[in-house]
Amino acid sequence: MLFAEQSWPTLAGLSRDIPVIVPIAAIEQHGHHMPVATDTILLTEVVSRVHAQLGDSILVTPVQWFGNSDHHLDFGGTLSAPPRVYLDMLVGITENLLSVGFKRIVFLNGHGGNDVPAKQATFEVRQKYRNRSDLLLLMTTYWSLESEPWKRCESLVQREMGHACEWETSMMLAINPKLVKEHKDLKPVEPGNPFRPGSRAWITKDRTEPGHIGHPHQATVEKGHVLLETFSHDVARWIERVIAWDGSSWDG
Ligand SMILES: [Zn+2]
Repeated sequence: MLFAEQSWPTLAGLSRDIPVIVPIAAIEQHGHHMPVATDTILLTEVVSRVHAQLGDSILVTPVQWFGNSDHHLDFGGTLSAPPRVYLDMLVGITENLLSVGFKRIVFLNGHGGNDVPAKQATFEVRQKYRNRSDLLLLMTTYWSLESEPWKRCESLVQREMGHACEWETSMMLAINPKLVKEHKDLKPVEPGNPFRPGSRAWITKDRTEPGHIGHPHQATVEKGHVLLETFSHDVARWIERVIAWDGSSWDG
């Protein structure tokens, strides 16, 4: 069920146990060959496929395009909420939903820069409502559910998400090839090893001159179909666990 297409009385009449899926994306540079709305377009497709599988057992809010992309600002083509503004915005959306009784809130993320603030938002709200035992506040990123798309498509080169990379370019080719410019001659940009397994702060210019990270020259429409099918399937199976939650247990 799509939040934006309902009237307020219809929304008020829904079970308060319905999971509310809040998709969060971004508008930011995606190299020389991909549109700045890439993350929003890809997440919209994944969410549409998940909705097709789960229907009225979930409530899906509009995809939020305004993300935390300060690390891309040097390139232009980026509309970013500074990290603390973004954190407050996600807390605000969560509070909106809690204030009318919804209890299962899921941020479904489609952009790396939203990962930390989205986890922080759910953490802060949980601390605020610490006396309640009926809240389920979750966050995941659609490619981070231990999916293994290479098992269904042996020609996939990457084993992790990059940026404007083999994976994202392939998915865009499958959704709307007109939005992908020449990519076969692009040079790969390796993810490197920035003090792993520690975590190093970065701006995108630290890592790439053209703006992509990964192997966009390896992208094909066939790979894109496999990636979209795999990710949307795995997200839907994970959300089924949210639907099945008993309303109080820690485990799910
Ligand atoms: Zn992206």
